[in-house]
Amino acid sequence: MDTLSTLKLLSSQMSFEADGEPRVNSDPPACFSPKEHDHAFVHPAQLPGGRKMLLLKTLLSSACERDCFYCPFRAGRDFRRATFKPDEFAGLFNKLNQNGMAEGVFLSSGIAGGGVRTQDKLLDTAEILRRKHHYLGYLHLKIMPGAEKQQVYRAMQLADRVSVNLEAPSTERLAKLAPHKIFFEELLRPLKWVEEIRRTVPSYKFWSGRWPSTVTQFVAGGSDESDLELLALTNWLNRNVGLKRAYFSAFHPIRNTPLENKPAVDPVREHRLYQASFLLRDYGFDLEELPFMNKTNNLPLHTDPKQAWAEMYFGENPIELNKADKHQLIRIPGIGLKGADAIISVRRNSRLRDLSSLKKLGVIAERAAPYILLDGRKPALQLALL
Ligand code: SF4
Repeated sequence: MDTLSTLKLLSSQMSFEADGEPRVNSDPPACFSPKEHDHAFVHPAQLPGGRKMLLLKTLLSSACERDCFYCPFRAGRDFRRATFKPDEFAGLFNKLNQNGMAEGVFLSSGIAGGGVRTQDKLLDTAEILRRKHHYLGYLHLKIMPGAEKQQVYRAMQLADRVSVNLEAPSTERLAKLAPHKIFFEELLRPLKWVEEIRRTVPSYKFWSGRWPSTVTQFVAGGSDESDLELLALTNWLNRNVGLKRAYFSAFHPIRNTPLENKPAVDPVREHRLYQASFLLRDYGFDLEELPFMNKTNNLPLHTDPKQAWAEMYFGENPIELNKADKHQLIRIPGIGLKGADAIISVRRNSRLRDLSSLKKLGVIAERAAPYILLDGRKPALQLALL
């Protein structure tokens, strides 16, 4: 196989890995048109901060000696595997980058010869890209299960983002998905090392003068875990290891794996998990405030968690928008962080009296309407939005 065919094969096999902004809003982030850049191995991505890029997501190798129950690459599964040598991949990516076909890269790998050896190959590739090809663009490096602390440090010196996929929220849950991965030692500990390094090593020692961000990914519903378990761990990671974002990938069964008969998880669950994780991270919600259902400890699928909360607290007692502080404003459905700032700014010189003035501030007025008062009155929804 030539290098381009290897790349097409490996990157198509990588499609389950997430980077960039998950699409959780009714207005998904603007992306490049797929037709405009129809290369099978490059994906349009919008990174935190709004930067858009053509991201090459690929594996260095789809050969793997482990046997995770959900994974298409598990050892012994019959499919066509391929492997790049570090200099081979770095040279190919460099050409794509120089031709404008790929602007950033997300590099992971199946495990062959142990986590340490596989991590070395990923690091060698990153090193060649940065030092030999003087690549200055976005690089997301996966930390392999079992990697050593020195390797994590090296990855942080070379990458813009590093990630460890936890897959499940605890040792017991992980055993149902990946019996040979060790939850604490192989997965959680490297995430703690990243934060330890960030706290002790000055940022100028990293390649761009900034610490790389850290993300993780869970297989939502893969181990019969509850949303409460996933979000409790996400919340802990946000607060204790500086996690930038948790990705949730709704479980779907893969043919010829031990979980091939397990039913797929509703993708709406993934969506609700993202919404709830943003409430925890950005909107000042505590875990206990999220509307978990009693019997399952899952979020309701039929309504978004912010609306469910607002229904309980503002449904009977709508809040006066001309007086609410920022903490209260961002709890109203339809009002985001920017909308709350805009409301506070406008209120300095005038009062808000109708929904159309809210719309001009970027608020989704029809969602906010049931939970607010404007100058002591419930807003007149239909007339105001005409
Ligand atoms: S170690 Fe990674 S690539 Fe290998 S089987 Fe497990 S999840 Fe798949």
